[in-house]
Amino acid sequence: MKIVEKLKEKKLSVSFEFFPPKNEQAQQQLFNTIKDLSPLNPTFVSITYGAGGSTRDKTREVVKRLHEETDLTVMAHLTCIAHTQEEILDILGDYQKIGVQNILALRGDLPLNRREEILKGCKHADGLVRLIRERFGDYFCIAVASYPEKHPESPNLERDILNFKKKVKAGADFSITQMFFDNSYYYRFLERVRKEGIDIPILAGIMPITNFSQISKFSQMCGATIPEKIVKKFENYTDDSEETKKIGIEVATKQCIDLIESGVDGLHFYTLNKSDATSIIYNNIKSYF
Ligand code: FAD
Repeated sequence: MKIVEKLKEKKLSVSFEFFPPKNEQAQQQLFNTIKDLSPLNPTFVSITYGAGGSTRDKTREVVKRLHEETDLTVMAHLTCIAHTQEEILDILGDYQKIGVQNILALRGDLPLNRREEILKGCKHADGLVRLIRERFGDYFCIAVASYPEKHPESPNLERDILNFKKKVKAGADFSITQMFFDNSYYYRFLERVRKEGIDIPILAGIMPITNFSQISKFSQMCGATIPEKIVKKFENYTDDSEETKKIGIEVATKQCIDLIESGVDGLHFYTLNKSDATSIIYNNIKSYF
């Protein structure tokens, strides 16, 4: 089923993101995590894609398995930067053949010094959205990424929002944001986006901080600010301690409650293929569903 149709039926959506496993053991962990999180009745689950095309088969394999062996609605991430148009159409055609209807259309990130060498297909995600609509009509529900604190390559938020608008005009049905830790960025972004006439659902990307060094490295790479008052909470604890996890869960629970009470369309959890933090946070907010 198309996610956009499910979103219309839900007052508040919850969804989970996973990455394709690298080996048998990681595969087992992923499927255990999915089994743990399935009873939370997510609107959808999504599987990431390696921008260099490295996870092409793995992403497809996990998407296919979840689509065929579970009741979950699955969304496949797809990046365009390193694929020719023919390769992209092949991948999409395969998904259509097995009945997968949801795609997160992305440009992808590649090392700056290799970008021109690798760039084969669409330069930006709006081109990928256009290609999908041109070749597959309304078959796919298409999601795109958005950035409450602007994309790192963008000179400013206004320009980034105009580029986001291009993806929506090309045919995107809904969006998922980059992770953020300070809701005021999301609220400001939403206000500006709505003023621009963009009215698709925008799900908030939530990254529970369960290992401070790891998440602060991710957040620096993608330009997401961790407010000083949150940083301070983790100061006296080692990265992988139970205390760190407990604080991370508290912080994310508070963030989610504030978003829900402000009327967010949905919460999309970056799970890192683990279920415990996401399950506890969901349990803390389940009265809202
Ligand atoms: P775009 O929308 O193309 O934007 C990239 C930059 O170009 C922005 O600065 C934008 O302002 C600018 N821009 C956009 N369109 C135009 C245009 N027409 N003309 C000029 N400038 C333009 N990466 C992966 O490799 N695999 C994944 O599975 C993955 N999943 C993700 C899931 C989510 C929810 C999010 C938020 C990100 C994900 N990413 C993933 C990361 C993503 O690939 C990077 O953030 C990438 O740098 C940008 O992708 P995009 O689709 O937003 O690109």
